[in-house]
Amino acid sequence: MSNATQLIHSIPVDALTGAISVPIYQTSTFVQEAPGVNKGYDYARSNNPTRATLETIIAQLEKGSVGVAFGSGLAAIDAVVKLLKAGDEILAVDDIYGGAFRLFTHIYEKFGIKINYVDTTNAENVFNAITPNTKLIWLETPTNPTLKVSDIEAIAKIAKANSCLLCVDNTFASPALQQPLSLGADIVIHSATKYLGGHSDLIAGLVVTKEKELGEKIKFIQNASGAILAPFDSWLVIRGIETLHLRVQQHCRNAQAVAEFLETHPAVDKVYYPGLKTHLNHNIAKKQSKGFGGIVSFTLKNNTEAAATAFVTSTNYFKLAESLGGVKSLLCHPAQMTHKSIPAEKRRASGVADSLIRLSVGLEDVQDLITDLEQAFKKQQKEKQVFEPSISA
Ligand SMILES: *Cc1c(COP(=O)(O)O)cnc(C)c1O
Repeated sequence: MSNATQLIHSIPVDALTGAISVPIYQTSTFVQEAPGVNKGYDYARSNNPTRATLETIIAQLEKGSVGVAFGSGLAAIDAVVKLLKAGDEILAVDDIYGGAFRLFTHIYEKFGIKINYVDTTNAENVFNAITPNTKLIWLETPTNPTLKVSDIEAIAKIAKANSCLLCVDNTFASPALQQPLSLGADIVIHSATKYLGGHSDLIAGLVVTKEKELGEKIKFIQNASGAILAPFDSWLVIRGIETLHLRVQQHCRNAQAVAEFLETHPAVDKVYYPGLKTHLNHNIAKKQSKGFGGIVSFTLKNNTEAAATAFVTSTNYFKLAESLGGVKSLLCHPAQMTHKSIPAEKRRASGVADSLIRLSVGLEDVQDLITDLEQAFKKQQKEKQVFEPSISA
């Protein structure tokens, strides 16, 4: 059975009524026959049948044993960090999602958890940065927004040898392209807000663990802290997942064509896309994933915030917005948007230049998308010509 068939049929038909769509159990509590005697559900923070169905589906998709659905990707990340205690250290990818950086640095450092940021594109850097207190290695691959790729299998071996957990934020690849648990990771997290939901209509997060015992710990943390995903949003994620394979294939095709177009454009300095042969870790990406995803970033030869602002306000189909992974193409300027909470020096050092623009390539006809980018470059260039004489005057 192919992955797509398996995925579609892992979404169960309702045993009670035959409903082909998963029922939404909009309830807070469940009636018990006697104290503690119930049908497997007692209170909807602890468990809900709609959420449980999503959790089973994501566990299967990621080849793990336990899935847990949260109210956001950050709530999922937060639950994983809560496995640690004061004195423990996290070794994290330097080009980390801005919200994860904020959570680690501004919330968890004050509880005595230390975070070391390293360039994980070379596994040796991870090996060298591990200390006796390192308890968790945190990877994103590909990263946001410079699409850095790290070798999951190599880093999983380093994690094992040093008795630390490896958690991979698999948001950018999605399980349709990459399954970190099969490559040796212990935990996968997702912002299901992105490709899993797929339609820019919800906020959700998921954790999947390889081992059952670790999954039970995450479930305990969730029940204790309370950041659950609501039944309706669980249903929306399930509906998104039904078309995951189809959507992701098209996102990949469109993104590859857009990246190749950008590479040839005279106003573009660098293009970041793991599907390009010029990408630093193209071969690792090829080895560990079935495709290169829908996100493409690039910098302008005119490396200024002003030039980037002119570009991101000139497109028609690419809408200026945070987030990614939806049907409609989006673009954003990380320095002023998603990565604003990272100090400028640190941001630049991790490769997020002032002019860097991130595209979430959607499912429109790719020729229309390229035409849209072409006209935006022309508009941006025109503004520059008008602007420059007044500077030299
Ligand atoms: C969006 C995102 C998150 C955070 O997810 P939310 O659902 O917005 O809380 C975490 N990691 C990555 C890579 C993301 O893109």
